[in-house]
Amino acid sequence: MQGHITGDTNAPSNPVFPNQEGTRVWVREKEQLVPAIVNSCGDGTLVLTTDYGEVLYLQTTEVTREKVYAMHQSSIDGVEDMSALAELHEAAIMHNLYQRYQKDNIYTNIGSILAAVNPYKQISGMYDLERVHQYSKHQFGELPPHIFAVANECYRCIWKRHDSQCVLISGESGAGKTESTKLLLQFLSVMSQNSAGTPASEKTTRVEQAIVQSSPIMEAFGNAKTVYNNNSSRFGKFIQLHFSECGNIQGGCVIDYLLEKNRVVRQNPGERNYHIFYSLLAGATKEHRSQYFLEEGAESFHYLSRAGCCKDKSLNDKELFNSVMEALKVLQFSEEEIRDMFKLLSGVLQLGNIEFMTAGGAQITTKQVVTNVSELLGLDAFQLSEVLTQRSIILRGEEICSPLTIEQAIDSRDSVAMALYSQCFSWIILKINQKIKGKENFKSIGILDIFGFENFEINRFEQFNINYANEKLQEYFNKHIFSLEQLEYNREGVQWEAIDWMDNAECLDLIEKKLGLLALVNEESRFPKGTDFTLLEKLHSRHSTNPYYVKPRLADHQFGIKHYAGEVLYDVKGVLEKNRDTFRDDILNMLKDSSRNNEEKMGTARRKPTVSSQFRDSLHALMATLSVSNPFFIRCIKPNMEKTPNKFDPEVVLNQLRYSGMLETVKIRRAGFPVRRTFKDFFSRYKIILKDKAPKNGDDKKNSTDLLYKYDKTKKEWQLGKTKVFMKESLEQRLEKDRDEIR
Ligand code: ADP
Ligand code: MG
Repeated sequence: MQGHITGDTNAPSNPVFPNQEGTRVWVREKEQLVPAIVNSCGDGTLVLTTDYGEVLYLQTTEVTREKVYAMHQSSIDGVEDMSALAELHEAAIMHNLYQRYQKDNIYTNIGSILAAVNPYKQISGMYDLERVHQYSKHQFGELPPHIFAVANECYRCIWKRHDSQCVLISGESGAGKTESTKLLLQFLSVMSQNSAGTPASEKTTRVEQAIVQSSPIMEAFGNAKTVYNNNSSRFGKFIQLHFSECGNIQGGCVIDYLLEKNRVVRQNPGERNYHIFYSLLAGATKEHRSQYFLEEGAESFHYLSRAGCCKDKSLNDKELFNSVMEALKVLQFSEEEIRDMFKLLSGVLQLGNIEFMTAGGAQITTKQVVTNVSELLGLDAFQLSEVLTQRSIILRGEEICSPLTIEQAIDSRDSVAMALYSQCFSWIILKINQKIKGKENFKSIGILDIFGFENFEINRFEQFNINYANEKLQEYFNKHIFSLEQLEYNREGVQWEAIDWMDNAECLDLIEKKLGLLALVNEESRFPKGTDFTLLEKLHSRHSTNPYYVKPRLADHQFGIKHYAGEVLYDVKGVLEKNRDTFRDDILNMLKDSSRNNEEKMGTARRKPTVSSQFRDSLHALMATLSVSNPFFIRCIKPNMEKTPNKFDPEVVLNQLRYSGMLETVKIRRAGFPVRRTFKDFFSRYKIILKDKAPKNGDDKKNSTDLLYKYDKTKKEWQLGKTKVFMKESLEQRLEKDRDEIR
């Protein structure tokens, strides 16, 4: 990181020596500032209690200003916008979040960026309809920070700026991204229904409802219980809402990214498969259960029981089933489609119960299960047994069969299950998109809810892709917040203090550019003889001198990347197979022959692009959309690892603050003038405030300047660029308020 902002820029200027009982102070412990209170100061000993419960005894002779100093009033009181903090260091930011969190104020502004700390509990009245209305009637900044304030500003900006908007929600797993997404949808859907002009027609009401109702379906099929989150999204999504010029939602579209397929066949201890399986078992009617071979409980299915966690008291499988059925109805899925879905889900579960033994190669021991699977999926039972136990290839026009080992047979069984499930998921997304498609799209609001940065004990291909996506988003964030700022200030000749920022371009180059990591992975995947280890050799030999590349000294199956959020080591095992994502031809042909097959469901092209190149393309398409949108950022923060309310673990939070870029953001926002308008825009928007005293003609620049001086003679809150007015947010808020009052 360049120009890392450290410690106590304000300490030396603080005149108070904290020797009075009850004084709030910062104490430096192991390079970290910790909030504390003075207990007593006598006999040469200063006794402090930190906010995190530790008691410290310090010799007064040893206490320097560097070690202990009084807290600024803004830190003691807490502020709604971090930009108003007088003390700008990690500890002050964290302390501010903590104080607010204790009072159930989970939202805090950093200029137009919103920090949201997951409360892990329902805070009463926080999101009810009354709140929606309240926030919809106020300018940003007039009411306490709230996700609805962001949603409202985002909505207003469509007309204020005449461009499309996007909200980028980031944070670790369990930080609250998906809940935030739903809250934004909830708010915007109400705005749409109440939008001025034409009353919402029946059609638009249906679309809003359909968009809101698509959440439970996507969650049932794409979310699962993990160690980090009981309702963890195992796919990324970008939801776009298309607005008409008068403010109704006319339609929408969902793009999904990288569903975690492996989860269908195996889960880590204590985790679960996708919710839909358990809810189907808990909620299906007796009739359906007997029709689809679902009479036994989740424990009897290998794919559901092997991780030893079929139930969780925070999850109500039956209720979820009912809400999915309700949602499917709203989205007008047909009876037949729903039936096919059940059959497919049950087919996947049954597949998992096919067992093998060795007798000159793998043999199936559970014939009845094969019959059930075939019936459910419309496959030929004989053909299915064949492809699961032997492999056939066509050599010079002749079919040659060779038996599989048990391990290989299990692999082929699992790969069929994964493929079926992921096709089913894509099909559902496709259907949802068909239902919510609209005609008009004046401007859109896009909401991105995508997996946060991941660094586990063992990181694989999935983590590589996820972290690559996060690296891209960080680049966008940097570009927006930092480089654009700098550029604009320079271009406009406005004076301000330049701030160093974290640049991740080189790390992205390592991943993306010609002969970069992605290119090598893809090249090796196309290579029939390529293995994970030939790949690793190539990666090492090509990049080991790159400062962002890590060649571990000990491990012989890993490579590492120095991401903006920290160093991550990736295991190469399985990379090529996952990237190729191909089926054996004979399995593919069997599925293609199946009676249930149709293009929409099973359209698997032969020479399809690799997983990572598809993902790279979809990321680039996303970036292209984002680059023409006006962004809002929501940074979700997880207060503890126990998924529990009323517990704020400073170490857990600090770690997230460090790589969220929030610290730099605070400084840059405060230092700068975040609001800009061309002179023409500025004056035509605000001249109404002058009523009949507004000059009829003349120079926009001069008129704007005169108006600005009326509001702030000292020029602290504004500056003039070459073509634009630069303002602090506080000044814009005053102007907007006065303008509203006159109108
Ligand atoms: P992520 O999508 O970031 O992984 P989620 O949005 O699924 O995280 O949130 C995880 C859990 O935290 C939710 O299931 C819910 O219990 C809780 N949670 C998140 N945000 C809120 C909120 N604003 N209010 C109450 N509980 C929340
Ligand atoms: Mg989620």
